[in-house]
Amino acid sequence: MGGRYKIAVLPGDGIGTEIVQVGVAMLEAAARRFDFAFDFEEAPIGGAAIGATGEPLPAATLELCKASDAVFLGAVGGPQWDTLPSDKRPEKALLGLRAGLGLFANLRPARILPQLIGASALKPEVVEGVDILVVRELTGGLYFGIPKGIFPEKKGGRRGVNTMSYSTFEIERIGRVAFEAARGRRGKLCSVDKANVLEVSQLWREVIVGLAPEYPDVELTHMYVDNCAMQLVRQPRQFDTIVTENMFGDILSDEAAMLTGSIGMLPSASLGSGGPGLYEPVHGSAPDIAGQDKANPLAQVLSGAMLLRHSLRQSEAAQAVEKAVQTVLEQGCRTGDIAAPGAHIVGCRAMGERLLAAFEG
Ligand code: NAD
Repeated sequence: MGGRYKIAVLPGDGIGTEIVQVGVAMLEAAARRFDFAFDFEEAPIGGAAIGATGEPLPAATLELCKASDAVFLGAVGGPQWDTLPSDKRPEKALLGLRAGLGLFANLRPARILPQLIGASALKPEVVEGVDILVVRELTGGLYFGIPKGIFPEKKGGRRGVNTMSYSTFEIERIGRVAFEAARGRRGKLCSVDKANVLEVSQLWREVIVGLAPEYPDVELTHMYVDNCAMQLVRQPRQFDTIVTENMFGDILSDEAAMLTGSIGMLPSASLGSGGPGLYEPVHGSAPDIAGQDKANPLAQVLSGAMLLRHSLRQSEAAQAVEKAVQTVLEQGCRTGDIAAPGAHIVGCRAMGERLLAAFEG
């Protein structure tokens, strides 16, 4: 037996419960085939947890996550909780999880699958072959730097302030995650900053350059963030792995994601220093289609593949899961969000069954 892993399963709200079921079934199938085992333990989060305990992130849920090898999350939120004060809303649980698990690196792959090339808003010849990983720093930079706030001015009026600030320690640790990730891909890392204007970016660049000799097999380049935003739509194939600060990464990862066309296909991983990683689809709880068996479970399933690769080092199993996704798409199997007009549409459950058949067949 190749190992036993404890996974905290947090379905959350809306379509979360539907897609997590498919994701867990695929992880179980991967364990059977590659000879390891899972102990899955489910816990409430988000709106579901508010209903059960009054809190979006109950202490017991966070404790379970801390004691697990990885966390497998669906999505949280829904209109029924939108009127709650912001610290009681389901989405608050996500910030609590990131902080509680020390997750400082967000990995978002944007890969265009040949079967879905028509779903991109860009021309097929521009997006064909795109396979980018954005590594975004998640706990520092402009979103967390102090001072921050809205302050009265002596002469009247007010001033809004945010601060972009990074220590060498913070840059080094995200830099290492990115170099390692690039090493496991095509060996190209582009560090994105605004070093022509910002001192914090000058330090960022200096520290990243300082790490490069430890990774002689990775080709390091630098790009200003404004140019990167342009190059991503101009010639996206030039990128392999991108590493950047929190807000730049927030914006660029959404831009990169849209190259692929559908939010229902995009997985993500958030990693800390050695503790459990968090794996979840990029999309939300899709209340408009929740409970109707219409959700696309593929982003959840691909998040499961990232869990296998990054937290459990089961890269063969991860590849097999990714291949099953490609196979069902090749077979023409589509949920509504990725279907061309007139195509035969399957539901979330049927997509799950087809995936299992492709995986086991
Ligand atoms: P959303 O991602 O939930 O939905 C946007 C659109 O994409 C909807 O039309 C939805 O039906 C569709 N969609 C999303 N995922 C899909 C899937 N797997 N299959 C098919 N279609 C899919 O974003 P939203 O509508 O802005 O937010 C809904 C709720 O989710 C809000 O409460 C929001 O705060 C929350 N949210 C949670 C997360 C998270 O849990 N990480 C992320 C984003 C939004």
